[in-house]
Parts: sequence; structure tokens; C-alpha cells
Amino acid sequence: MDGEGGGGLKPMDSEQLREYGHQMVDFIADYYKNIENYPVLSQVEPGYLRRLLPDAAPNQPESLQNVLDDVQSKILPGVTHWQSPNFYAYYPSNSSVAGFLGEMLSAAINMVGFSWITSPAATELEMIVLDWLGKLLKLPQEFLSPGHGGGVIQGTASEAVLVVLLAARDKTLRRVGKSALGKLVVYGSDQTHSALQKACQIGGVHPENCRLLKTDSSTNYALPPEIVSEAISHDISIGLIPFFLCGTVGTTSSATVDPLYSLGKIAKSNDMWFHVDAAYAGSACICPEYRKYLDGVEEADSFNMNAHKWFLTNFDCSTLWVKDRNALIQSLSTNPEFLKNKASQANLVVDYKDWQIPLGRRFRSLKLWMVLRLYGVENLQHYLRNHIELAKYFEECVGQDSRFEALSGMYTLRFAVGAPLTERRHIAAAWKVLQDEASTLLGTPLQDNGNPS
Ligand code: PLP
Repeated sequence: MDGEGGGGLKPMDSEQLREYGHQMVDFIADYYKNIENYPVLSQVEPGYLRRLLPDAAPNQPESLQNVLDDVQSKILPGVTHWQSPNFYAYYPSNSSVAGFLGEMLSAAINMVGFSWITSPAATELEMIVLDWLGKLLKLPQEFLSPGHGGGVIQGTASEAVLVVLLAARDKTLRRVGKSALGKLVVYGSDQTHSALQKACQIGGVHPENCRLLKTDSSTNYALPPEIVSEAISHDISIGLIPFFLCGTVGTTSSATVDPLYSLGKIAKSNDMWFHVDAAYAGSACICPEYRKYLDGVEEADSFNMNAHKWFLTNFDCSTLWVKDRNALIQSLSTNPEFLKNKASQANLVVDYKDWQIPLGRRFRSLKLWMVLRLYGVENLQHYLRNHIELAKYFEECVGQDSRFEALSGMYTLRFAVGAPLTERRHIAAAWKVLQDEASTLLGTPLQDNGNPS
């Protein structure tokens, strides 16, 4: 860095930003243009990068072109290309032009919006955009900001479940006394994301009090309410205190939907907090025909969906709604002298620092706002429906090959469609790879008509 004539980058200079920014955008656009040419899974060996990069940072500035050359030749080979149309692992992590532009703008403003006063627009836009999305998902009114609840953007679904678990824990401990921490019990299923277990670990819930109830194919791996009721009754009978139940809409292994309404009723009748994790599948529920999967969410205390998974919003953007924001604030608020300000003191504003673990927070609502505005609801619905059609097409392909079936307890291949660039031809190519592998393994080559011999 040299502002005085060495020719390097200044800390900030609008003309340099314009020049280098254009160069970077070109680089990124070319990356996307050629993304199909990369192997989806990085082919490097552990430690590969240390062998390619110097031991220490350079004393003198280098050119952006040099750095980009290194990105091309040394970094990209070590990247697994999540945005490739041929990526079907885990769940998707969508980027989009709109999301990307929102990220750029957020990086440009680069404020740290922990309290309303630190950038009123950041807090207010987040409240508005989460109300927009909450309405699109037809969440009950209590989840929206005009009442006692509201939405907040967390980094991840794991943070979302952690903060609501802490809120629920403290709410229960206020009722039963702090010394009862060791008696608190959490319920989910063996399909619930491990984020729940991690939240328990952090939240001081004894590991043996985290009940991951067994599911099986008879309920399509959904959590049966009777099993939950039985477990709760048993725990109460031995002096334990059930306080938190997590239901999932779109489990990580198989996208199963738990029976929200019944689970919510059970939670309510036992004074428990009911959290709904729709990290992946929640997005689809902006389509009227899939909204049914959220039926029963009105019984929940909190609801979470990752806009960064399947909603064209670049990572990270995990949207969380709660009905009782005070429960969060009571657990997570701190109020040191240096953060005091008139608006907060007068209780006129939301200070999102009290709804999350860290103090600092990014202006993430910009990218979600951009996605909603630059695509519009109809296009977003179309985008989601198209992926569902592609997944059905894959299912059809599987159904036509007698060597494949969906069966519990068997070796399974999980295939998650949802990358922004995926088209029917990519699915067909992936299916061909699977069929060819099956032919090699089973010695049953395909005939000319595409059926196994
Ligand atoms: N919940 C579900 C249902 C998920 O599928 C995932 C990740 O795939 C998570 C939670 C965790 O997400 P995050 O990485 O945002 O913590």
C-alpha cells in the first residue's frame, strides 16, 4: 500500500476502485461463464496450497493482475464449485446477480449495524424486508415486526437455533429457577440437523438431555407426535423439565416435513418453546402450492429459513422470526456505557445486537432486498418451481431403471437439485454418470434404448 507515489493501491480511492472493480467484475463474470469447465469437486490433496504460496506476506505491493493470475492457477483448483450447475451435494448455496450486487453494496457501505443508531437504514430495512418475506411465506401476524415479534437475519441456521434455544432456556429458568439447568430437556428427531445438538452443547443442556427421537420409513422419517408425547411424559415423571422442541420442514437427509401442528400443540401444552427449522425447504413455501408444508407454523415460537440456500441470496443470510422478541432480548442483551444512545434508551428502536450472538453485524438485508426487488415474487416462484420440476425429472429417470430404488437402510445416493445454473441437460448428464457407474459395479450395461440389459 502506498499513497505517495509508489504506484500501489490507496486505502480507498474512487477512481482506483472503479478501475480495479471493473477488472474484478470481468474476472468474476468470466468465472461464471466458464464454470461448467471446472471439475465440481476440487481435485487437490491436503496441504496443496502451502506448496504453492510464499511463506510470508510481500513487503511491496503486487499488481492485481498478479493476484488474479494466482487465483486462476492456484486458488480455483482448490475450490469446490458450489455454483456449478453440476453441483448436487449437501443443499445448494445460491448466488445470483441480484445477491451479488447486494453484497457489493454492503461491502461498499461497510457499516457495523449493531444498534439502530449505527445506521438506521440497516436496522429498518432488515425489519421491512423480513416482514415482506414473512408475508410471502404467510407466517402468522405475530411473527411480523408491528407486534411483539419480528424477523432478524442471522449468519446461519445454527446461530438461529442457538439464539432461540438460549431464549427458551432462560425463559424456562426464570419460571423454574436457575438451579434447574441440569434438568432441562430438548427434543428433536434423529433427522434434526446437528445444529440443534451444537446449540445444546453451547447452551449448557446436558448431552444426555438432548433427545433425538428415532424415526423410520413408516412415517417417511417424520417425527411422530405420539413418540414425542411419550418421551415428554416419561421425562416429567422422572423430574426432568422439557423446554424445547425442534420440528423440521425439509430435513437434511431426505427433505422430510415434521407434523408441525401436532408438535406445536404438544409443545404448547407443556410450556415448551417450539422452533421450526425450514433452513432449506422454507423457500419453496412462497409458492401457494407448497405453503401447506408450513401448516402448523402458527403454533411455533420461532421459524427459520436460509435465504442463502435456495433463494438466490448470496451466503450468508439466514432469516429468523420470533413471536416474542423480548425473550431473545432478555437472554442476549448487554448495555455497556459506550453503546448507550437516546433512541435505544427511549426504547424507540430495535437494536439487533440483542437478537444475536456477536455485537457487529453486516448490512445483509440489502442483498435480500435486491433479490426481492430485482427478481420479483413471480420470478422467484418460477425459479423454485423449475428446480422442483428438475428434481421430479431426476426421480422419473431413477424410476425407469430397475437397478435403483429408494429404500431405508440401504446404500443411498442423495441428489439435491438447486444450483442457479442447473438445467435439464445437467440432470441428464448426472444421471448418465450414475447409470454408467451402476453398470460398471453391477455388470449390467445399458442397452441402446437406455434400459439396463
Ligand atoms: N437445518 C437444516 C434443515 C439444514 O439442512 C442445514 C444445513 O444444510 C442446517 C440447519 C444448518 O445450516 P447452517 O449452515 O445455516 O447452520
